[in-house]
Amino acid sequence: MQNGMFRPTWDDSIADGFSAPKLFGQGVSYTYDDVIFLPGHISFGAHQVDLSTFVTRNIKLRTPLVSSPMDTVTEAGMAVAMAAVGGMGIIHYNNSLEEQLHQGTGGVGLQEQLRHVYAPAGPLAWYGLVGARPAGGSVEVKTAKNHTPGFVVHPVCMAPTSTVAELYDLKERKGFTSVCVTDTGKVGGKLLGIVTTRDWDFVADLHTPLGEVMTKDVEAAEYDTITAEKAMQLLKASKRGKLPIVNSSGELLALATRALFREDARLPLGGPASVAPDGRLLVGAAVGTRQADRERVAALRDVGHVDVVVLDSSQGDSTFQVEMVQHIKREHPGLDVICGNVVTSWQARRLIEAGADGLRVGMGSGSICTTQEVCAVGRGQATAVYHTARLANSLGVPITADGGVQNSGHVVKALALGASAVMCGSMFAGTAEAPGDYMYVGGARVRYHSDTQSLKIAQGVSGTVHDKGSVRRNVPYLVQADLGAKSLAEAWQRLDRGEQRLECRTGAAQAEGGIHDMHSFEKKSW
Ligand code: NAD
Repeated sequence: MQNGMFRPTWDDSIADGFSAPKLFGQGVSYTYDDVIFLPGHISFGAHQVDLSTFVTRNIKLRTPLVSSPMDTVTEAGMAVAMAAVGGMGIIHYNNSLEEQLHQGTGGVGLQEQLRHVYAPAGPLAWYGLVGARPAGGSVEVKTAKNHTPGFVVHPVCMAPTSTVAELYDLKERKGFTSVCVTDTGKVGGKLLGIVTTRDWDFVADLHTPLGEVMTKDVEAAEYDTITAEKAMQLLKASKRGKLPIVNSSGELLALATRALFREDARLPLGGPASVAPDGRLLVGAAVGTRQADRERVAALRDVGHVDVVVLDSSQGDSTFQVEMVQHIKREHPGLDVICGNVVTSWQARRLIEAGADGLRVGMGSGSICTTQEVCAVGRGQATAVYHTARLANSLGVPITADGGVQNSGHVVKALALGASAVMCGSMFAGTAEAPGDYMYVGGARVRYHSDTQSLKIAQGVSGTVHDKGSVRRNVPYLVQADLGAKSLAEAWQRLDRGEQRLECRTGAAQAEGGIHDMHSFEKKSW
């Protein structure tokens, strides 16, 4: 953290561009797009940039990205993927405690799922990672292979009584054509067989139960003895596409697939996953501030072993949140709390004084958020990040910039303005790891969330997003942008000393900085 920020040594009257205090001290609410950084001198390669960061007082990430606790963004699959790329996922709480604990895993606990990806003490080194607990107590990830072998975190299962019609429906919604069949129809049930297209594509009667068409003689591997390498060898030798992973009672725990191994080999080079001191993947969970949320926190901590909870409010500066963070710090020492959301330094100060280990910044800047329109409160996200970071960083509390991120440039701006991490929602919605189903709108493949609960959203809208592929492929590109500084600390020093010059862009400058004069083009955010 930077102490004593903002003592500009540059003379603003003669220097090119503005210093941050001058730009953000004018009473104007700037969004990321309004602001542009003037380039500095580059004396290093992009590969030398270190973006490692503290997302809370105690939790360090290699990649300064966090996925948002939205039911369209972060459940177990996303949490695993985010940790695998060195970031962290925050599981949403738009569900029951039971569901949040066993997020989409059909009864197999979240941490049990995570163990499939990272098993420090066991024989499974799914991501090619070997963990060790050095004397100091923190976990060092010793080996980080560059590729992540492909294991489905929570494979889709059906019961033997499910029908071929349900498979057609699944294909339509999720794009899957194969499922594991278990006695309960869920992960954790006894594995009875596998159904692939070869079993059902010529079946005319859609009411045919899967128990009649499934392949029963399935080669499965035991969780306690399998390794990623062995799984790949077995798939190669059998020339099959799927290898279910079961426990000693034959209950399904995971699924290794040929397609994912193939895909993983094409992923960009990675690095160590985010691992907690207990040797498991880092994971966070959102909670509210009601009385019942206190029980949720206790269960998430004791049963789910979450590393951080995020108090999830549009306006975090409330008595409810102050009392909640005080309660958690008293009852669950060692559990980090991110409070929010805030957009001003005085909101930030109150929550830090109450015990916040991190702050979430942003009000009304999210893609589906209508808070500024509906409630007349909020702040342009660039201004909010700058002012809250200035206060919080001086007190040693990291901030996570939440909302308003549409491209990698916005991530860079958030970090350079003082954010320690950036929370992405809509950027990650529609990726392979996000919850939700596929459908086609106007010829484009899109995702929507198939929650049947009726939910009244006063400060947001519902909608669809484009299918975006995997976050494991996309995140490395998102953080490749050039900060002009080798680390976040260096970027903040430049801001502090007034060396990082900025300007506000006019509408015409923004148009010029965007794509123009093209007959046609396809724009990708990463
Ligand atoms: P909230 O739970 O903080 O507030 C809901 C209502 O419950 C408020 O009226 C609040 O005052 C009340 N409340 C909370 N704790 C209480 C307690 N202990 N006793 C009595 N009343 C209590 O949630 P919210 O602000 O409505 O946000 C809902 C969701 O929408 C969150 O996920 C939030 O992140 C998201 N959201 C975010 C933004 C943003 O700009 N960041 C904007 C809109 C919505």
